[in-house]
Amino acid sequence: MADCIFCKMVNKEINTNIVYEDDDILAFRDIAPKAPVHVLIIPKKHISDMTKITEEDSKIIGKMHLAAVKIAKELGIAETGFRLVNNCLGDSGQEVMHIHYHLVGGRPLGDFVD
Ligand code: 5GP
Ligand code: ZN
Repeated sequence: MADCIFCKMVNKEINTNIVYEDDDILAFRDIAPKAPVHVLIIPKKHISDMTKITEEDSKIIGKMHLAAVKIAKELGIAETGFRLVNNCLGDSGQEVMHIHYHLVGGRPLGDFVD
């Protein structure tokens, strides 16, 4: 998608702080972190939001979870715990229309849901 900021990151048109990459997935630090660890995990394939996933995409979604655990271990929050959040459409406050998980941790999160 030409005007999608996360696709631009996938295509390396925008520099970002990458923490994990494989054939299907990219993960990078959120520009406005809300916790000591705040990483965004995205599929390289452009999918606008969670309501658009297909049976075919289920492997990618699974890989995003595996990547989350790998990153959590690397960044030292696998033992203390973390939250993996997807915002989907209007009421959730989804701002970037390229599906992503927020991986957050490094402090007690309380009611923090973003
Ligand atoms: P959403 O509200 O769509 O679930 O989350 C979008 C997230 O993307 C926000 O936490 C925001 O800080 C982050 N974000 C927006 N633009 C950029 C950017 O250019 N670079 C990075 N690293 N994160 C971004
Ligand atoms: Zn995109």
